[in-house]
Amino acid sequence: MIDRLAIIGVGLIGGSLSLALKKVGQVGEVVGYARSESIRQQALELGVIDRSAGSIADVIKDADIIFLAVPMGAMSSVLIELAPHITDRMIITDGGSAKAQVIESARVALGERFSQFVAGHPIAGTEKSGPSAAFANLYNNHRVVLTPVAETNSESLEKVRAMWQLTGAEVVDMSAEHHDKVLAATSHLPHLLAFNLVGMLAKSTDCDEILRFAAGGFRDFSRIASSDPVMWRDICLSNSAAILELLNDYRRGLDSLEQAIINNDGDQLVDVFKLAKQARDTRFAEPSLNDNSEA
Ligand code: NAD
Repeated sequence: MIDRLAIIGVGLIGGSLSLALKKVGQVGEVVGYARSESIRQQALELGVIDRSAGSIADVIKDADIIFLAVPMGAMSSVLIELAPHITDRMIITDGGSAKAQVIESARVALGERFSQFVAGHPIAGTEKSGPSAAFANLYNNHRVVLTPVAETNSESLEKVRAMWQLTGAEVVDMSAEHHDKVLAATSHLPHLLAFNLVGMLAKSTDCDEILRFAAGGFRDFSRIASSDPVMWRDICLSNSAAILELLNDYRRGLDSLEQAIINNDGDQLVDVFKLAKQARDTRFAEPSLNDNSEA
């Protein structure tokens, strides 16, 4: 049971945590803060939070757990702003999509209170944003990754783990570096590809005509290109090293497919497609817990 939960960033991720904990009756009061007054008001009216706070100092007052669910680009400034107001008993955790950078920001901002910070990432989401997108079942049957470091206080870690378990999530621990590589492959690169493909088509003069013939496969693949552009800008810039490495591999793969088509080399195409099909058919057999998509 969490007596008071403070949520900074009451959108899809922060709002859904609040609703999930309320649903199981495991939170006393949820106090929320977002930069914009209208978003705070909306979260309050929708019942996503119980009380709205006008500042970061106010939202974390007497909180047991502080959950940061702001875009990656805002994590560092929020941590710097809340640092002077943290007391001994508070636990700070986050839901940001890339971990190494948030951990470094927390280390710098929190100083001797860094041990109270537990970095995390729920591997669940949709392409929608804001308090109205939040729903109680978002995390049910999804994974949440925690990336503790040597300094992380073990009691804080276990409390954050227990909080996520209450939402129906399976919690796994890994290093931040490993997390960032895995998520670059399963989420960040696919989003870049979808944004690039849909953006490329949008620029063509006969875009409407092309999209009239979009079949299910294109709809599935392009859905994530409807995700929030600013959030994804921040994710790409926060996990740039891992994403750039994968983009290199991907570009090499594309080049070799292009060469196979130029050479009329059907066997090479079949080899590549067979390998992918086999991996897709055998390894993604259990959709709920293998759903690694952010959106
Ligand atoms: P969102 O846009 O729905 O919500 C973000 C909230 O943060 C909004 O309420 C906004 O008003 C507020 N905000 C923005 N800047 C702020 C600032 N400087 N100070 C205080 N509040 C501020 O976004 P979201 O989808 O909930 O994403 C939140 C975080 O969770 C991001 O770091 C994102 O990388 C991560 N995440 C997103 C998904 C996803 O699929 N959407 C999945 C997992 C993790």
